[in-house]
Amino acid sequence: MEAVTYQKLETYAKRLPSGVLAIWQPPQAVKALLELEPGADQDFQMMVAFESEPGVPTGKWMSLGNHKSIKVSWLRKHYHKLGNLLHVPSPATESSSLQREPKELRKYLESVVAELEPVVASRFDSSLANLVEFQCSVCGEPVAANLEGVQKSHKAVCLNPSCGAEFSPLKAKRVSFYFA
Ligand SMILES: [Zn+2]
Repeated sequence: MEAVTYQKLETYAKRLPSGVLAIWQPPQAVKALLELEPGADQDFQMMVAFESEPGVPTGKWMSLGNHKSIKVSWLRKHYHKLGNLLHVPSPATESSSLQREPKELRKYLESVVAELEPVVASRFDSSLANLVEFQCSVCGEPVAANLEGVQKSHKAVCLNPSCGAEFSPLKAKRVSFYFA
């Protein structure tokens, strides 16, 4: 889960504030990444076709590859559940059935592996997007959010962990946004 998450963050590294990769745990990292790129935890297939003019495809669509991703809700649930299994329950806490029953634990771990296998096997990713880019007026870090995501959510968030400022678009054009 960590390897898949860090590989995903590597794809978006140019759009992330410096130093955050060392601070975030995978569930926090993917949640924060979704602020910049709402589709970053989705599966997709990338298709291309020749165009006779911009926006008018002609001929056959060709697949460049398929991407399989871990959804942030799944990651949050299983990352912490697996983490808890690494610890011996303290005398003050009751052990879970997974900790008591090796057969149940094995079944659970096999189900996690089965869900991770296609994600680990996926070698294709892409971060193509129209971006809204500006400098955070609070901390000075660059913010590079997906334009479509900003148009839907009406906000862009600074991912500097010690900042987190939210910005609202004042005036929307196709590729330029102005923030205050
Ligand atoms: Zn900031």
